[in-house]
Amino acid sequence: MHLLEVDLGRRVRAGFTRRAGGVSASPYDGLDLALHVGDDPEAVAANRGELAAWAGAPVVFGRQVHGVRVLRVDSTDQTPLDPRREDIGLDGGCDALVSVDPGRALGVLVADCVPVLLAEPRAGVVGVAHAGRVGLLAGVLEAVLAEMAHAGARIDLVQVALGPAAGPCCYEVPESMRAEAGAQIGSLPARTSWGTPSLDLRAGCRERLRAAGVASVQVVGGCTIEDPASYSYRRGSPTGRFAGVVRLLP
Ligand SMILES: [Zn+2]
Repeated sequence: MHLLEVDLGRRVRAGFTRRAGGVSASPYDGLDLALHVGDDPEAVAANRGELAAWAGAPVVFGRQVHGVRVLRVDSTDQTPLDPRREDIGLDGGCDALVSVDPGRALGVLVADCVPVLLAEPRAGVVGVAHAGRVGLLAGVLEAVLAEMAHAGARIDLVQVALGPAAGPCCYEVPESMRAEAGAQIGSLPARTSWGTPSLDLRAGCRERLRAAGVASVQVVGGCTIEDPASYSYRRGSPTGRFAGVVRLLP
């Protein structure tokens, strides 16, 4: 399985999937992990099975809605055991997951938004968050950190990896949107490689995480819009979703 593996500390397995591998047919072709994009559910189930084999546990995904709701996951939740079933958080969705249970891996699905993996290895707490422009500005990172702290994590010991996402080079937005986002997070405004207004989502994530007290933030992978090894919604729809995955090891 082709993954960008990341080191988030002892007792933690973490990484970002690529498009390569998997059994999904065109136009998804590859390792599409999303049930909501029109792909064959049997193909997605097979791809999720491959991911679970790498993680060593079933992978739980939230039904992401660009919000700030965080759910706690443990192995009493049977959802991931049937990968054809809907993802969790059906009543209103959820964009972040936290767990202290090695019996489940946590996943976040993206195609341009930032997949955020978090771990506090000493306390044994892991988390994921889906951070696009809307969720980032609404506070999804602060929300997942609060839930991790509630589960016993020390924020200054939390290690974070930001995976492949739309880069400032290509993530073009209207000038008014750039100005509005920049008023809230100073590192978001950027310029595309052709000189028009854009946003640097991963710089914005890093700023918010640092402000919340996180010391270790690594950035993994490049710009999804220009990298055919990643799925990208901006590059063309319909498309699949790749995943960030984190699991506490027993
Ligand atoms: Zn780019």
